[in-house]
Amino acid sequence: MAQLKLLIDGRLEDGDLTMDVINPATEAVVMACPRASKAQLDKAVAAAKAAFPAWSRTLIAERKAVLGQIADVIQANAAELARLLTQEQGKPIADATGEVYGAAAFFRYFTMLDLPVKVIDDSEGRRVEAHRRPLGVIGAIVPWNFPLILMAFKVPAALLAGNTVVLKPAATTPLSTLRLGELIAQIVPPGVVNVIADANDLGGELTRHPDVRKVSFTGSTATGKKVMAGAADALKRITLELGGNDAAIVLDDVDPKTAAPKIFQGAFQNSGQVCIAVKRVYAHEKIYDALCDELAQLADAAVIGDGLEQGTQLGPLQNKMQYDKVKDLIEEARHDGKIIAGGVIPDQPGYFIRPTIVRDITDGARLVDEEQFGPVLPVIKFADPEDALARANNTPYGLGGSIWSSDLERAYALAERMESGTVWINKHSELAPNIPFGGAKESGIGVELGEEGLAEFTQLQVISMAR
Ligand code: NAD
Repeated sequence: MAQLKLLIDGRLEDGDLTMDVINPATEAVVMACPRASKAQLDKAVAAAKAAFPAWSRTLIAERKAVLGQIADVIQANAAELARLLTQEQGKPIADATGEVYGAAAFFRYFTMLDLPVKVIDDSEGRRVEAHRRPLGVIGAIVPWNFPLILMAFKVPAALLAGNTVVLKPAATTPLSTLRLGELIAQIVPPGVVNVIADANDLGGELTRHPDVRKVSFTGSTATGKKVMAGAADALKRITLELGGNDAAIVLDDVDPKTAAPKIFQGAFQNSGQVCIAVKRVYAHEKIYDALCDELAQLADAAVIGDGLEQGTQLGPLQNKMQYDKVKDLIEEARHDGKIIAGGVIPDQPGYFIRPTIVRDITDGARLVDEEQFGPVLPVIKFADPEDALARANNTPYGLGGSIWSSDLERAYALAERMESGTVWINKHSELAPNIPFGGAKESGIGVELGEEGLAEFTQLQVISMAR
């Protein structure tokens, strides 16, 4: 494949710089990749700014047509995009394919939304209307765990509302996003969507750029705080989708055999590199041993390997930094608890870690208190559900959480008091384009997806007329 290009002002161009993108399953270079300079970032923002007046005045039907065409082109090129995604990210090809089709579906979902004028008062003396106006240039910053689907949380909503976009994937996973840029170059008017890649050095520049009106950021809480600080001077709008430490509380009336596969999937999908993965399990003492055993069996049976190989269930960690961090957490967990599955680092190239279950561990251990973002799951015993809920809430994070019980009323009563943006009952990690998603506490500000997510790409303008 020829080297990928950046998309700036409707033109596909080389980066002023280049960088290598590593396949985390082999540690070999997938391909050299263009890397934008600060001057190219400025050019992309200038192009987005110049494209804004005309794009924001198009009829919403025209913008919907463009979103529909983007969805079509993603689907038509799904096999190629999925392969690139697996090569750069590490996830199994079936999951990558699901992510690509998911991204297309998210674009299609936004073609069904509108931004109607809301008439607040239409009386004899006055008429008051609320309009949703576009903001201008949006900086869209994406992490490395789900490059395409997280892009699709942002770009279609931003475009539908009449904004223009500068999109920046993570430094270690730019390839599928750049390829998407190439595929849409002929569909989207010049400057409306710009795609640049960096070596983790342009996110701050994009955030602080005076011509960017809003930053839609997904990534770690630490970086999210920098984004918020960078946006403060110009009072930019921000949406922050940040880290989490989701707890699953499993009550005493749960059948461990039935729940374990769902909890395992919720914890280990994408090798645990999911913002809304189950990151801590609180299991009632009555079912604790049985649940630990079931989870350990599933972990032992999981097939890890190169995502391009048939039968692979779990790929590698995406990058060396994350791999080293998770290895450290496992080493510490050996002392804080008892490893009953995994804990082994295979002696092979690639950032592989076998799925690991740690029991007899409790709050205060780093693996419980921090976001591991990898394939290692602590299982904590509790006697009183109220105590489990208090411990689940005792974290700066508040992204997701779940309650597991055969008594829905009982589960619901606990769910209502979970301090998180989403609470699932008898499931975990489910997302859909029509369901708004966002974090409580230090897991974020604002929401994406759904009508509420669309509204965040707009400025509310009231027109109030006397008559
Ligand atoms: P990260 O914060 O290191 O990087 C995310 C993005 O920010 C990358 O594109 C990076 O280049 C860019 N960036 C780096 N420095 C920046 C700066 N100073 N200003 C602006 N942008 C900058 O995150 P990561 O390690 O790539 O992703 C993992 C984290 O993302 C985890 O904490 C995970 O929970 C979180 N996450 C959250 C959600 C959510 O929706 N809440 C979804 C996925 C991942």
